[in-house]
Amino acid sequence: MPVLQQDSRIYVAGHRGLVGGAILRRLQDAGHTALITRTSRELDLRDQAAVRDFFAAERPEFVFLAAAKVGGILANSTYPAQFLYDNMMIAANVINASHEHGVTKLLNLGSSCIYPRMAPQPLKEEYLLTGPLEETNRAYAVAKIAAIELCDSYRIQYGSDFISGMPTNLYGPGDNFDLKGSHVLPALLRKMVDAREAGAPTVEVWGSGTPLREFLYVDDLADASLYLMEHVSEPGPINIGTGEDLTIRELAEMIAQVVGYQGTLAFDATKPDGTPRKLMDVSRLAGQGWTARTSLRDGLEKTYAWYLAHREEALAAR
Ligand code: GDP
Repeated sequence: MPVLQQDSRIYVAGHRGLVGGAILRRLQDAGHTALITRTSRELDLRDQAAVRDFFAAERPEFVFLAAAKVGGILANSTYPAQFLYDNMMIAANVINASHEHGVTKLLNLGSSCIYPRMAPQPLKEEYLLTGPLEETNRAYAVAKIAAIELCDSYRIQYGSDFISGMPTNLYGPGDNFDLKGSHVLPALLRKMVDAREAGAPTVEVWGSGTPLREFLYVDDLADASLYLMEHVSEPGPINIGTGEDLTIRELAEMIAQVVGYQGTLAFDATKPDGTPRKLMDVSRLAGQGWTARTSLRDGLEKTYAWYLAHREEALAAR
């Protein structure tokens, strides 16, 4: 199993995002010195020729593929063409260039939305492609499934050590707090801080509040990503989560407590609920030696502290 050396050439694709940013911090903290990054302005990962040139020049030995067009339920259902095209192109270019340029190991990161909408819970890796996908993020999911299939196909045909980690819903420092594009957790955190400051009596929560979601603190994901890189080599998706979920209403109540918001929740039934539940079965990774550490309450406190300290940056980022 390849081990990351202090001077290994490690490319983190998507280092300005929530996930890539956390992986980069984790690698820096561990003392890795040959870290390679490019902003999307410097390198458009949808551009095959540009990606080839970049790999030829930089010769990375390890690749963390955390670059993706991502967003919450509204962004996914509004821009399906972009979610499908951008993510297919990014995955195809980076995975193929990794093969052509002899990358030792690649970790492809996806999402729990790859699993069928009505799959039994908790979601086991083997449920992939056993039923229809959730409508509101089908385009994104198909691109992410294609990326897993690419990794597995390069493994079969060329023996490439390309693996796929599928994290549950993530949150933490560096998240997207834009209300139209973000996921539920940063959206509610921002809305409740705003409402507390404005003295607003209610905060709007989309949908019925009954869907169940699982949340993983992004630093735990970064930890899992390094663990996978060093200890796991197998085809197919590998779930990364906490194995615990809660309703959107419970989440909203917990965020209100952390933020100190005393008003009431107003559920907006005109907004979609999305998939009713997507709890990860995390026993496979646990069996290989990794489990999440940060409780939701602790992660929320840390994210809230980060948001207060970096509010301008968080709101201007996108
Ligand atoms: P999903 O996990 O792919 O469905 O993505 P989201 O994180 O965007 O949404 C999760 C659930 O939270 C859905 O049922 C949303 O309707 C609900 N939700 C409640 N309030 C909000 C909000 O302000 N923003 C977002 N994005 N979702 C919200």
